[in-house]
Amino acid sequence: MNSYVAKVLEDLQKKQPWEKEFLQAVEEVLSSLSLILEKDKKYEENKILERMVVPERTILFQVPWYDDKGELHVNQGYRVQFNSAIGPYKGGLRFHPSVNLGILKFLGFEQVFKNSLTTLPMGGGKGGSNFDPKGKSDNEVRSFCRSFMTELYRHIGENVDVPAGDIGVGGREIGFLFGQYKRIVDSYDSVLTGKGLAWGGSLIRPEATGYGNVYFCQEMLATKKDGLDGKRVLVSGSGNVAQYTVEKLIQNGAKVLSMSDSNGAIIDEDGIDAEKLAFVMELKNVKRGRISEYAKQFKNAKYVEGKRPWGLVKADIAMPSATQNEIELEDAKALLANGCMCVSEGANMPSTNEAIKLYVEAGIHYGPAKAANAGGVATSGLEMSQNAIRLSWTREEVDEKLHNIMRSIHQNAANAAEEVGTPGNLVNGANIAGFKKVADAMIAQGV
Ligand code: GLU
Repeated sequence: MNSYVAKVLEDLQKKQPWEKEFLQAVEEVLSSLSLILEKDKKYEENKILERMVVPERTILFQVPWYDDKGELHVNQGYRVQFNSAIGPYKGGLRFHPSVNLGILKFLGFEQVFKNSLTTLPMGGGKGGSNFDPKGKSDNEVRSFCRSFMTELYRHIGENVDVPAGDIGVGGREIGFLFGQYKRIVDSYDSVLTGKGLAWGGSLIRPEATGYGNVYFCQEMLATKKDGLDGKRVLVSGSGNVAQYTVEKLIQNGAKVLSMSDSNGAIIDEDGIDAEKLAFVMELKNVKRGRISEYAKQFKNAKYVEGKRPWGLVKADIAMPSATQNEIELEDAKALLANGCMCVSEGANMPSTNEAIKLYVEAGIHYGPAKAANAGGVATSGLEMSQNAIRLSWTREEVDEKLHNIMRSIHQNAANAAEEVGTPGNLVNGANIAGFKKVADAMIAQGV
């Protein structure tokens, strides 16, 4: 590790040892950057790393709201505006009880590099709350969203910061948030993405993260003249990202063996087909039920309580699409022992750094999240473009643009990996390609 990188990491560990996920994300990026910082001293001279690991602005606020019984609750709200060197802050909002500043800093930090990789002009940010939408009525979610936006509105804007969804924030929440923003500001601004089609949303935005990850996976396989047809694939999660990953995998002839939620995983040796996926979509999106129901509906499937799908059956490909650190070292070992030759990440930072090290040493295809799942935010960027020109592109047009962006991300990361002498290492490739654009913009703009 280069001495400049080591020093920045050590300082950060001393300052915020409790922000474990953030430190993990920084360590992963900085270890790749050693390869270019040694040669090019301009980044060190301009203290680029010191500036990159501190958000430009962090906003913390209270979110008071009433439940259906008339009881008052107070949650913590956040928006971390990480870096605006190449465009307005852009990134999702996460509503989940695990949300804290360390989690949002890791997500915001990752978003900076991911957004840079998309080829579109977007800075990075992330926000959210420790509010748990699980088990809440529509009325309670609306009440929370209105209160959240009543503070957030003053910090965002279509040229300032454009939030979107993430875990716990889907079309319903974006609708309530947008409605409240419009009510307060009285202007139809493109201030959120992931909007409904009738009110400024983009076709393919709901599908984009999942489809994009499958496109990325195909690019990786194509480097060895391979494809998805007949491949056995483990998918984790059952939310938006997982659902459209499964849909695209089925369309490409892959056999999808699993989906999961925080309670457990289902394994279906017959494969999840379009009809079974429609059941999952209805179950999760309308009934807001648990994945265990799948095994009651389709008798050949088995439900494994308290487990993630990794290593439960033989599989060629893993597409983690649930949450951070869902593949730990032991899971990664189990995947490899069961024939896995490709990991393509739909969730943010789903693999621990130890698991990543194992993939790289084993030489399997590995698509790190900031590259492989960038299709979601890229299509948010396309939503902003359509709003700006007041036009809507067709499904085919958006899908083609998304597909081209995923190809470019893969190509740019592969080229960057090759340039530093680690061909095929997309961890280095994605980190370096994402970093250079942002860092060079920071230098050009001065302090
Ligand atoms: N939450 C998604 C991500 O992690 C999408 C963000 C967006 O569309 O702004 O990239």
